[in-house]
Amino acid sequence: MEPPRLIIVIPCYNEEQVLPMTAPLFLSKIEELIGLNKVDASSRILFVNDGSLDSTWDIIQTLSGQSPHYSGISLSCNRGHQNALLAGLMEAREFCDITISIDCDGQDDINAINQMVDEYLSGAEIVYGVRDNRDSDSFFKRSSAQSFYKLMHRMGVKTIYNHADYRLVSSRVLKEFSHFKEVNIFLRGMFPLVGFKSTCVYYTRHKRIAGKSHYPLRKMLALAVDGITSLSIRPIRLITGLGFFFSIVSFLLMIFAFGSYFWGTTVPGWSSSLTITCFFGGIQLISLGVIGEYVGKIYLEVKQRPKYIISERTWDEEKK
Ligand code: UDP
Ligand code: MG
Repeated sequence: MEPPRLIIVIPCYNEEQVLPMTAPLFLSKIEELIGLNKVDASSRILFVNDGSLDSTWDIIQTLSGQSPHYSGISLSCNRGHQNALLAGLMEAREFCDITISIDCDGQDDINAINQMVDEYLSGAEIVYGVRDNRDSDSFFKRSSAQSFYKLMHRMGVKTIYNHADYRLVSSRVLKEFSHFKEVNIFLRGMFPLVGFKSTCVYYTRHKRIAGKSHYPLRKMLALAVDGITSLSIRPIRLITGLGFFFSIVSFLLMIFAFGSYFWGTTVPGWSSSLTITCFFGGIQLISLGVIGEYVGKIYLEVKQRPKYIISERTWDEEKK
């Protein structure tokens, strides 16, 4: 059997500090796999420049001139990690049998790629890279990430625990995935929905080699909200449940109020009414906010705007 053609898809945003260090590591990994006859000799690396403001795209262009295994596409503006990754995967799927997505900062152990390819060769169509521990994370990142996975699970979203976006996906799966037309994407929660045979490979995640994370608290929260609201409607159901619960509570309160009135024990009760008013005001606003989040999502979905626009490629148009 011919070895599969592999494309490693790497999203890069303002990574001029780290890319020159990690790119040769990816290249030597590709060369090693070709040497072992595990992947086809035409396998390569596809960098996706996500509208970087620094010299990342220049670096990618220079690299592409240095080895036929390097190639790159550039998005017309910054669209975020998920969209950049999707752009790379959709671009790659036409030219390969398998893709592996990985961050460019050297945090994910590239040696797990060998095992991922082996799993593919033994029949898996999706291989999830799963971190065996979170020792390299700060306490804050570790605990916030863990509560995030737990919350996702409670909300009925099937995600692989401690799996980010380090993953092998076959072009067969990507072909089916291309029919998922939604604009709000959360790839790690969506691939399990495609089905096919899948498995996990465990690896140790290191600290970033250089540069700094692009996921501050604000972006992590946004990713969490997107992940839940694009894959689950349970929060809206919870609101309905909350509504029922408080209706019952207020009914009981009503009986209590009537009782107190007839027993003649009514007091001015200013503070309690104020507390209750504020409390229900808060609940209502939160509920409206959650519903608004979904309405906003529907608004974005119906517009069906393109998720990304590719402005440049390191190869000629006719090669496509
Ligand atoms: N990234 C991207 N677009 C963005 C933010 C990040 O393509 O808007 C890329 C980034 O270059 C890196 C990967 O996504 O390869 C993961 O980002 P980062 O390492 O900052 O996140 P962390 O590992 O801290 O979660
Ligand atoms: Mg990182």
